[in-house]
Amino acid sequence: MSLTTLTAAALAEKLASGEVSSVEATQAHLDRIAAVDGDVHAFLHVNESALSAAAEVDAQRAAGAPLGPLAGVPIAIKDVLCTIGMPSTAGSKILEGWIPPYDATPVALLRSAGVIPLGKTNMDEFAMGSSTEHSAYGPTRNPWDLGRIPGGSGGGSAAAVAAFEAPLALGSDTGGSIRQPAAVTGSVGVKPTYGGVSRYGAIALASSLDQVGPVTRSVLDAALLHDVIGKHDPRDSTSLKHEWPSFAAAAREGARAESLKGLRVGVVKELDSPGFQAGVSQRFHEALELLTAAGAEIVEVSAPHFEYAVAAYYVILPAEASSNLAKFDSVRFGMRAAVSGTVEDVMAATREAGFGPEVKRRIILGTYALSAGYYDAYYGSAQKVRTLIQRDFASAFEQADVLVSPAAPTTAFTFGEKIDDPLAMYLNDVTTIPANLAGVPGMGLPIGLAPEDGLPVGFQIMAPAREDARLYALGATLERLLEEKWGHPLLSEAPEL
Ligand code: GLN
Repeated sequence: MSLTTLTAAALAEKLASGEVSSVEATQAHLDRIAAVDGDVHAFLHVNESALSAAAEVDAQRAAGAPLGPLAGVPIAIKDVLCTIGMPSTAGSKILEGWIPPYDATPVALLRSAGVIPLGKTNMDEFAMGSSTEHSAYGPTRNPWDLGRIPGGSGGGSAAAVAAFEAPLALGSDTGGSIRQPAAVTGSVGVKPTYGGVSRYGAIALASSLDQVGPVTRSVLDAALLHDVIGKHDPRDSTSLKHEWPSFAAAAREGARAESLKGLRVGVVKELDSPGFQAGVSQRFHEALELLTAAGAEIVEVSAPHFEYAVAAYYVILPAEASSNLAKFDSVRFGMRAAVSGTVEDVMAATREAGFGPEVKRRIILGTYALSAGYYDAYYGSAQKVRTLIQRDFASAFEQADVLVSPAAPTTAFTFGEKIDDPLAMYLNDVTTIPANLAGVPGMGLPIGLAPEDGLPVGFQIMAPAREDARLYALGATLERLLEEKWGHPLLSEAPEL
């Protein structure tokens, strides 16, 4: 078996036993990137220091230093996260070539755990999008079918994992940008509880919604990664002070669980829509049958305000984004247009040249929604809807321990299909946005291929805030049940490229 097809957990075992070195594992992934990334375009930047970081971990291991469970395992990092020594562009021309003077906290935690950054992954500009077609550096292609989108905004991270260019990746999820790319590439993606992972050094899209999280090929790998990055950070005022249980332990227990007796699984009526792709609904209901056969109690719950979630999100997100993006003013970061004139002239020319159409659209929308006279009508109403959605979750979680839905309404669509229709693009996140509005954790995991197109279908599990361990426990059980059914994991070998 090649080093690039192992899960992170399996690779970590080989590293710990001395069977392989981190340099060998890292080199294997760099070779894979060199071989396939010309087609996939998951990476915007490959880390020149990856091998020296790997050599350092090997030396520490040889010296008998205590090392974390993922030490020596390589990881791909979404370009929204600041990294010392590597450009951090957030997929935008306005930050082209910008090398931050500090690491985002999740990156710093990974480096000190001995995890090896392989490079930075492609994304929709400032994480606005569902396909990576809004990246200023060209789209990423889905390894399952190079003519299709890998999801977005974190399509680069999901494609890197699904193309076996990296066993682990970091993403960020504001409205679904971890879970939806995971769904359409057959990978596992987790949006932690809001505040569960530090946002320090994550280039902000909408600060009340953004959350950094894992993208992997197995539930246990996501748990291992979450255990490393899920730490309180005094530099993020919204970071939770919470004693998190070991998510890896929850995943291992879930994988062993004989029965799901006593678990109430809530199917959200509003997210089980007849409008979804037929094969997506079919695989979703088959997964529910597996859970029922294992003893879980399936209950139907209603969340009547979820139907307004996308509308509320597309007022709140642009409002926050227009404020967050005001700092790209040609003075402090990145690009400056070569024009003369007043500071306003230079700023306007820089923003005109540096931002793509989707970013401009959202800045204008947000500025409008926040302007005097419209603030109450738009932003105020959207915040009220947000509260109603939070109440829907609270009452649903009285009836069920976890909530489930398809992770995305369709499988991967083709390039160009939705790019000129912002509303069609926005509707991709109809199943994922509610969790961001309420701050609750959600996982997307693969449940099979849609019969009509042979492309991966994702399943979403949501839990109450701070109960992320439930995602890993149930996710690992479902993953095992599916493997028993198929005889192998969905992503056991690289799709033909
Ligand atoms: N697709 C959503 C959007 O365009 C989600 C983005 C995200 O989660 N970063 O806003």
